[in-house]
Order: sequence, then structure tokens, then C-alpha cells
Amino acid sequence: MGEDVEKLKQRLPLLDYLRQQKWTGRPAGYGSEFVGLCPLHEETRPSFYVNARKNLFYCHGCGQGGDLLRFVQLSRHLSFRESFAYLEQLSAPAADAATVLEQAATFYQNQLDRYPEARDYLQQRGLHNLATIQELRIGYAPGGSLRRHLTAQGYSFDLLRRLGLLNAQGRDAFYQRVVFPCCQGGRVINLYGRSITAAFAHRFLHGSKGGLYAWDQVQQCPEVILVEGLFDYAVLWQAGFRHVTCSLGTHLNACQFQQLCDGPRTVYLTFDVDANGSGQQASQRLALRLRAQGIPTRHVLLPDGHDPNSFFVQGGNRGQFQSLLEAALP
Ligand SMILES: [Zn+2]
Repeated sequence: MGEDVEKLKQRLPLLDYLRQQKWTGRPAGYGSEFVGLCPLHEETRPSFYVNARKNLFYCHGCGQGGDLLRFVQLSRHLSFRESFAYLEQLSAPAADAATVLEQAATFYQNQLDRYPEARDYLQQRGLHNLATIQELRIGYAPGGSLRRHLTAQGYSFDLLRRLGLLNAQGRDAFYQRVVFPCCQGGRVINLYGRSITAAFAHRFLHGSKGGLYAWDQVQQCPEVILVEGLFDYAVLWQAGFRHVTCSLGTHLNACQFQQLCDGPRTVYLTFDVDANGSGQQASQRLALRLRAQGIPTRHVLLPDGHDPNSFFVQGGNRGQFQSLLEAALP
């Protein structure tokens, strides 16, 4: 039971639940706290605080506080067991989606060895370490076989289409793509697919790309390297850097920005140094926003025209990248 409760609370964060219930709160002070009117007692001045990181609330007006289960017990006058059942039901569709995405990720992972072109592509992008490929659960979508696999397990066309795994015509949406699962709170929430033929742009399934990639693993690190692409992430991981995360593009969504600000840390911005300067401009803008929140930043300056991926592909090594980190300026 205890474990199920923990999973439920990860799957349905308190703040998300409150927002679903139309609660509005504004950021309060440092990082992950929000304040708004208390839904548990009548008041005109906000005294209800939610800590998104701790997943807890406290009201200075009525003195009530606790977690999601406690809040549902109080607001709906339910017992603990009833509250749990209510929330399980409420979050069930999301659980469903995560289960299917998990199955899809595993299926793609199992295909990788059967398609030499996929392994060649990874090699060409500097990924040669089998352990890394397995740790990141990198897979391959050959196209034309996921639908059969998932419908055989009883999943409906409708659900698979809704998740974007099948396109409107009912065919596999990912075709000849290397696939990275994106996880949050231990659940797969999206899949990233990179075409190995370069004919098509990279893409996600529709739906949220979620927070920063593998944030759970770096949240406690005092220094965090932020890159924009998953292949950048993968080569750094392969080279032994563990305090690295990825924003899946140069534009951070609100959740990702919030994560970077949720505790004291230095962020090493390692965006592409591309010819048109767009990566560096995005990096400058982000640095200003982070510093305004009290988060120090460093700019990691890669050689001209490089991103972390190409840096390693063209022979860069751990020591050289470490030197770039040490030379990074505020
Ligand atoms: Zn209250």
C-alpha cells in the first residue's frame, strides 16, 4: 500500500491536482513554493502554501497541512482508503498511457540488434558503448511492426492513435527512427525519434515533452550541465559525465525552467555553437532568466560550429570536455 501511495503521488503531483481543481497560486519566494487562497477554509488573503518539490501543502489560516492524500481527505471528507481509490481512478488514464509507452519503448529497444543500419547510425553519432545504449534504453523503430505488436496485446487502435504511436492512417508513426524514451517519476511520458536517413526532422509523439531529461538523477547535483539535444546528452553520459541533463530543444518550457530554479546549483549552459548564433542567443537569454532567479550560470564554449555531440564524434574526449567546463565563464 505504502509503495502504491508513493507511486500515485509521483504520478499525480499535488500541484497538478490542485490546478485540475481550479486552484490558482502564484510563486512564493524561492524556487518551488506557491501561495494562493485556501480551498479548505474561507479566506480573502492567501495563506495556503504548496511546495511543489516536497509535494506538500500547509495553510497558515486553518493550520491544515500534508500531502495529496491528506488534502483529498480534508476537501472531500473521505477516509484515507476512499481518497486513495478516488485518486487512483482520477489518474488511471495517465497510467494507461505510460504503460503503453513503456511497452512501445521496450519493443523498440528489442529491435535495435536486428537492424544493423540502426547500430551504424549510433556509431556514426559517436555512440558505441553498449552499456550506455542500454542504460539510456535507446531503441529502433523500423516502422510497420509496432501496431501489430501492441494490438496483439489488446491495446485499441484508438488509444494508440491518441498517444500518437499510430498516425491518422493507422500506421506506425515512427519509421526508421532511433528512439529515446523520456521518463518522469519512473514512467515513460514521451518518445523521441530521430530519423536515421536524415530525410525527416526529429520529433516527439504529440503530448508534453515533460520536464528536463532524466532530471531525477541530477536534481541533487550542485553543478548541472545543460545540453539541448539527446545525442549531446548521450555522448556526455558515455564519456562518464553524470551531472548532465537535456532540455530537448533551446526553448525551455515552464516546468523545465522551474526545475533548474528549484534549489541552489550552478548551471553549465552547453548549447550548440551554430553558424547563425541561435544556440548562443538562446543560451544568453536563458542565463539572464536564471540569474534573475539567483541561479549562477557558466557558458561552456565549444569550438566553432560544434555541439557536444560533434565534439565527441570528432575525437574530443572526457579530459578535453572537462577542460572546457573548467574554462567556462559566467
Ligand atoms: Zn486554510
